[in-house]
Amino acid sequence: MSDFSLKPGVVTGEGYTTLVQAAKSGGYALPAVNVVGTNSINAVMEAAAQANSDIIIQLSNSGGAFYAGAGLQDGFQATALGSVAAAQHAHLLAEHYGICVAMHTDHANRALIPWIEALLDEGEDYFEKHGKPLFSSHMLDLSADPIDFNLSECARILERMAKIDMSLEIELGVTGGEEDGIGSDFDEAADNSKLYTQPEDVLRAYELLNPIGHFSVAASFGNVHGVYKPGNVKLRPEILKNSQSLVQERHGTGANPLHLVFHGGSGSEKAKITEAVGYGVFKMNIDTDTQFAFSEPVGQFINDNPKAFLYQVDPEDGTPYKKFYDPRKYLRAAELGVVARLQEACEDLGSKGNSIATS
Ligand SMILES: [Zn+2]
Repeated sequence: MSDFSLKPGVVTGEGYTTLVQAAKSGGYALPAVNVVGTNSINAVMEAAAQANSDIIIQLSNSGGAFYAGAGLQDGFQATALGSVAAAQHAHLLAEHYGICVAMHTDHANRALIPWIEALLDEGEDYFEKHGKPLFSSHMLDLSADPIDFNLSECARILERMAKIDMSLEIELGVTGGEEDGIGSDFDEAADNSKLYTQPEDVLRAYELLNPIGHFSVAASFGNVHGVYKPGNVKLRPEILKNSQSLVQERHGTGANPLHLVFHGGSGSEKAKITEAVGYGVFKMNIDTDTQFAFSEPVGQFINDNPKAFLYQVDPEDGTPYKKFYDPRKYLRAAELGVVARLQEACEDLGSKGNSIATS
């Protein structure tokens, strides 16, 4: 039985920091799953309920636009409206799944700062009406910019977020696969400082941001978004440990003072995941794997029932195919694919059976 307990539903502010603390002290991390519509959000919540795990649901900028509908004329407006719609959907339904859900937005680089600011406008309105923000946290990924700009911009945005009980995820160092060209001349033997976050940079971030509000760090320790061939980059979770130790030493904190996030975790060895979680990783992003888990059963369903996707009624024997081409049939198969895949993820991350939701 956990020392922590929260009401089921979307958690923000103190609820969110409790969720992070529960994961770190319980020695597990929460899956953070990218979604693009109600089918994927519902599947993720169903998966979490089945695993008795709390969960983080996140939208990328283009995921937000897709949620609003790819046919909307104003693309910028769509990215904000779709993200808001997704968050409202979760606020309405999450508690009925009996687990805690953190709502988050994924990578926002320099060009996407206006998207985050538009979401904060919405979040402030929502906070005024409901006493809580729409999202639990946003990510600002300015790792491609100079660190001075990265940190000062994160501080500026966090000032605004802290006022409405929100947390900020930042990125220090470059997660592999995001920058063109690095892969080609990458030298496995070299200590490539771009791919491995420097503890001194993490210390700077802590000293600037910790007095302002709650934040987490996506640190690079050889993790990739999928461009490098397997074996080209070595995961070095001890980088995370070094950052934790430096902050702990300089500021006399307890163990693992930083809240760390693992990007590009797909395909990582379980032992490295477990080691990273031991160094304070509370969130691991999963996108590619759940995309395939959603699509694969749909392909299977169509292969199994090819005529139902060509004819409403069989031209030879008159069989009606309505019960096969009804979109609920194959979309449900897709949802169940996600539910099954996330059971494995919750097991790997240790979150299975550890939901702190109590009604
Ligand atoms: Zn990422």
